[in-house]
This record gives sequence, C-alpha cells and structure tokens, in this order.
Amino acid sequence: MTQVVDAVFVGAGHNSLACAIHLAAKGWSVSVVEQAEEAGGAVRAGEYTQPGFRHDWAAMNLSLFAGSAFFKQYGKSLTGRGLEFVPVDKPFASAFPDGRWLGVSSDAAVTSDRIRAFSDADAETWGRLLADFPAQAEQIFALLGNPMRNHALAGFLFRLWRKRGIGGALDLGRFLVQSPRAWLDQTFESPHLKAMLGAWGMHLDFAPDVAGGALFPYLEAMAGQSFGMVIGKGGADTIIRAMQAELTARGGTVTCNAPVSRILHDGGKAQGVELADGRQIMARKAVIANVAPSALVRLTGGTGDCGFDRAMNTFEHAPGTMMIHLALDGLPDWAAGDALKTFAYVHLAPSLDQMARTYQQARAGLLPDEPVVVVGQPTVFDPSRAPEGKHVLWMQVRMVPGTIRGDAAGTIAATDWGEAAQPMADRALDILDRYAPGTRARILGQRIVAPTDLEAQNPNLVGGDQVCGSHHLAQHFLFRPARGHADGRTPIDRLHLSGAAVWPGGGTGAGPGYLLARKLAGN
Ligand SMILES: Cc1cc2nc3c(=O)[nH]c(=O)nc-3n(C[C@H](O)[C@H](O)[C@H](O)COP(=O)(O)OP(=O)(O)OC[C@H]3O[C@@H](n4cnc5c(N)ncnc54)[C@H](O)[C@@H]3O)c2cc1C
Repeated sequence: MTQVVDAVFVGAGHNSLACAIHLAAKGWSVSVVEQAEEAGGAVRAGEYTQPGFRHDWAAMNLSLFAGSAFFKQYGKSLTGRGLEFVPVDKPFASAFPDGRWLGVSSDAAVTSDRIRAFSDADAETWGRLLADFPAQAEQIFALLGNPMRNHALAGFLFRLWRKRGIGGALDLGRFLVQSPRAWLDQTFESPHLKAMLGAWGMHLDFAPDVAGGALFPYLEAMAGQSFGMVIGKGGADTIIRAMQAELTARGGTVTCNAPVSRILHDGGKAQGVELADGRQIMARKAVIANVAPSALVRLTGGTGDCGFDRAMNTFEHAPGTMMIHLALDGLPDWAAGDALKTFAYVHLAPSLDQMARTYQQARAGLLPDEPVVVVGQPTVFDPSRAPEGKHVLWMQVRMVPGTIRGDAAGTIAATDWGEAAQPMADRALDILDRYAPGTRARILGQRIVAPTDLEAQNPNLVGGDQVCGSHHLAQHFLFRPARGHADGRTPIDRLHLSGAAVWPGGGTGAGPGYLLARKLAGN
C-alpha cells in the first residue's frame, strides 16, 4: 500500500531528523527513509574494533549541536529522551616536533600562562580577543544562524550597520574573507600558537592560505576557551537515538535499509519518492532530500533547469578523510608530556607550511607525505566507552585524496584505496608513534576506514569529503549550494535540498535542517 504523508525525507542524517521533528511539532505527518542499516549518517557510533570498545564512526565533537538553535528549542525534551553530553574542559592541544606542546583549557588563566611560555605579546592578545569575543560572537552567530535569502541577509547587514557602523561592518567583512594564515600572522607571533589554531581550518578544507578560512581557527579558539567542548555520553549517537525517539513520539517514522532510487515529480512539482524495492511514499507538501547535490540530479532524472543541474553536478567536494579507530590498553605516552593525556583532541600539525603542503598534495591527488593527524581521546572524559582502564582513540587523517594519483613520499605504489589504506594508515600511525612512542604496542584492535569506505556507508561523503562540499567562499553563504538556492529551494516545486551541502553547511549544528523546517512551517 502506498504511504501518504505531508513530508518525506531522503536520508536520516541529523539535519533530516531536526527538520522532521520541527515539522512534526507543527502538525505535519513525516516519514524519513534511510539507505543504511541505522539512522544518523555521519553521526553514529559502535563497536568497530572489538566488543566493549565504542567508537564514534565520524563526528565526535558535538559542541555545534549543543550550541544550536535547534537544541535551544528541543534540548530539554531530547534530554528527557536520554540525550547525554559529556562536558570537556580541555578541548584541544597540539604537540610539536621540538618536544613542546600547547593547549587550551577552559580556565583562561591556565591557557594564558601556557601561551606566555611561547610569547608574552600573544598571551596579551589572547586576553584581548577573549574580552572582545561576546560582542564579536553576537554578530558572527547571528550571521551563521541567518537564512541566506536576500532580504534576510539585508536585514542582518542593516542590524550590523546599526550596531557597529560602517567601519565595524567592513572590519567584520574583511575578517570573513581572510585566510587563516593572514589572520594568524597579523594577530600572533608564536609559530606554535599559529599552528595550533591553524589546524582547525583543516577540519574543513581551509588550509592556511585559503581565503575565508580565518573564521574557523578564531571560532574554535574562542569557543573552546569560553565554553569548552561536549562529546556524547557513550558515543555521538546519543543525539540520534534521542532525536529518533522524539520524532517517533510525535508520530513520525524512520525506516532504515530503504535506499531511495527516485524522486517522483511531474516536471513541475515533487510528488514523493520511490524506494529501491519499488515501494512509493507520496508527499502532500514536501520532499526533502538530504543528499549530495549531484545525487539530487540523479534521483530526479534532471530537474528541468540545466543551469541548476550543472551547478549541482559541478558542486565542489573537499579532499577526503581517512579514519583510524583504535582500541588501546592505555592512552598514548605523549613525549611532550603527560599533560597531553588530559585533552580531548591532540593535533599533530606542526606548522602552517606543513598544513599548506598537505592540502596541496591532497588536492593534486597525492597521498600526503606527512598528513595532519587529529587524535581524539574521548575516553579521557567518557570512560564508559571502553572497559575499565582501557581506551579508544579516534584518529582523523587529514587530508587525503578521494581518488589517488600518486604518493608524495614515493613509497606507496597503490592507487586503489583497497590497497593503499593499510600503508597510508601505517604512515599516520608512524607519525603518532613519533609523538607518542610505544603507542603501536598498546593497540588491542584497529579499524581503518578509507575515504571510499566513508562514502560506501554514506553516499553524501563524496570521495570521503567529510562535510559534503567545500566551504570555500565561492560555495558558502549565498552560494551554498548555488546562488538562489541557499535556502534549499530547487527548480521543482515542493522539492527541497537539505543537509550539509546547504547553508550554513557541514557540522553537527543542524542548521540546514532547522532553517528549512522553520521556513516550511512558517516559523
Ligand atoms: C569523519 C568525519 C568526522 C567529522 N567530525 C565532526 C565533528 O567532530 N564535529 C562536527 O560538528 N562535525 C563533524 N563532521 C561533519 C558532520 O558529521 C556532518 O557534516 C553532518 O553529520 C552532516 O549531517 P547531515 O544531516 O547533513 O547528513 P549526513 O550525516 O551525511 O546524513 C545523510 C544521510 O542520508 C543518507 N542517504 C543518502 N542518500 C540516500 C538515498 N538515496 N536514500 C536513502 N538515504 C540516503 C545517508 O546514508 C546518510 O545517512 C564529521 C564528518 C565526518 C565524515
């Protein structure tokens, strides 16, 4: 029997769930269909190495979700349905090849003393930036939570002008187009501090010299300092389980193992979706596709607007990520000091030049000779994820090419991820062992996830691109995913694109889903 609902969603990423919950709260009947065996997309967790060790498959840092407008509205209810965050008071640090380290703790005086050991002037600057942060944050978060439609943006600019004057508005504009390196060089003098902050750009595809990337090191630095970080109790999927429960309680459904093979439309208006097994779900008001832009064209068979379809098919993806999940019988013994055992993230990204080189290599299709390695130590804050005294390590190898053309180090001959994954993982583990000798000997189990594995599990992660599309300026703000479509509208009436490819983009902040829900529901 054909199901008929008000809105049907393609994909059960957290953006779909957020959108579906809000629409259900406004009285819509909603149905979410997911191709994978479970909901959550890039937010999932499981025992990927061996029993008793729970790993975040992809996203680990849930600060964006905890600070989101969606959570502000539904957080209390989600908490009642089991959502549990673990607060992190030492969010991130970096270890350096000269044996030193630097890290941010939520105690500002402690961070300041650490920075002072590298530069007095930088410690003063850090204090000044922190004092300015509440005023800056008000404007920046207002922009990031603002719908990217012309009149809404004009409203934002008008309020900005009223509050900060022309000069202040232009200063903010200049900052938003700066590269990480330009901002870091103009702000700090210590290469160690610059490298520690510059590493945050690499969580997206903002290598040090890419325009528009200064925002990310700045926000992570100031937000990490002001609010710390949160991770999920037991795993990042705590938010997904609670959202599913919330949606079900409001009458919505989530169906897994149900790939959508076609979006049904009559050329002008979307009607519903067809699943791979032939079942159809019809939608009275909206079909919402949380898919990569090129997949939207494929699922519709073409929207009928060549310009739009071309923009979706040429939407640019960022270089890929490789994940390494480790079960360990003890935390890494960091050569720079045991203090590093107390941080959620340790970045192994020694300099802005190394990050710039890594990015260029990945862009050129080369396996980087010295990739950036992000080491997550969630069990420091959430011991429930491993048996007593044991730990899990979450390693992100940034950045790697989705399609391999060669190896910058000249030692990996394979150009197929099936064969290249192990030697590339060995390269990353060698780097870890250099900073924390003996870590390899502590490995009880490991799971290597190549970019192609990420995409196989979740087709939105094209080439292992972890944020479903580059956030470079030409593809961000009004241009995400394309000019005129930053609110998710498509040339087909009632068909909306949602998820990380749409403004405000990737991450766990549920912005694309929640903004769309509010647009559709009228508030
Ligand atoms: C390795 C990695 C690490 C990350 N780390 C962080 C982090 O620490 N903090 C952070 O904030 N963000 C992080 N991110 C980014 C963040 O997780 C994503 O941007 C976000 O989860 C995207 O959510 P979404 O709802 O847009 O879509 P997704 O989570 O991508 O979900 C889309 C869903 O749609 C399904 N789907 C696609 N096509 C179909 C189809 N035809 N039929 C049915 N279902 C379909 C997919 O299977 C998937 O489940 C990370 C991402 C990755 C990959």
